[in-house]
Amino acid sequence: MRVPIIAGNWKMHGTRGESVALATAIAAGRPANSHVEVVVAPPSCYLDCVAHAVQGSGVKVAAQNAHHERQGAFTGEMSAAMALDLGANYVILGHSERRTLFGESDPVVNRKLLAVLDVGLVPIVCLGELLEQRESGRTAEVVRQQFTGSCAGLTPQQMQRVVLAYEPVWAIGTGRVATPDQAEEVHAQLRQLITEQYGRDVAGAVRIQYGGSVNAANAAELLNQPNVDGALVGGASLKAESFLVIVAAAQGTSS
Ligand code: PEP
Repeated sequence: MRVPIIAGNWKMHGTRGESVALATAIAAGRPANSHVEVVVAPPSCYLDCVAHAVQGSGVKVAAQNAHHERQGAFTGEMSAAMALDLGANYVILGHSERRTLFGESDPVVNRKLLAVLDVGLVPIVCLGELLEQRESGRTAEVVRQQFTGSCAGLTPQQMQRVVLAYEPVWAIGTGRVATPDQAEEVHAQLRQLITEQYGRDVAGAVRIQYGGSVNAANAAELLNQPNVDGALVGGASLKAESFLVIVAAAQGTSS
């Protein structure tokens, strides 16, 4: 049984005070007996205070990115070891905004993934096709390429720790969500790819989130799909009320 994981990607939003207030509200609103893993990903400068705000609540913290080197002359960067030091438990890698706006290729994501695993953090590896790729019937090929490139060279033990996030680029921040069938089809393909490379036990353990315009109204239907193990949420994670409804939906579909 895979533990559902709902993660909120706050991107570059919020002040220090707003971040602490949002984290505190999520920590207070999360049902005490919930088995759903709840993760918040504040801007890196607020990792420390957000980690402090959720301490003891069961809510986990994610960095939105990390450099593959431990330290060095990389102005403006934060290493995975630094994210760990600031209280992070997870690191989001290869988000489509990193891939498109900051030129992160699969090999770059792969180096970061190895660094994140190396320091003992859990990576959330994002992948997904562009609209024109879907419309030209290339979704399966694109997702296969991104998966094999981004997750190259992992041992089965390492692969088992990875969380994948299928995020069709056309659905991110657009209000145009994938249908439950579209999400399930790609998630099942991903699980099949993992089975081919690592066997059924590893494939059965890897959690695959869906991301792209998930909100309080559509979450339950998506999370009800057999291969959808959680959600990576952007816009709807910026308000505690809507985020907590998504958490409750995950609780409802998996209990
Ligand atoms: C995201 O940025 O990962 C995301 C899924 O955003 P949104 O939920 O706003 O589409």
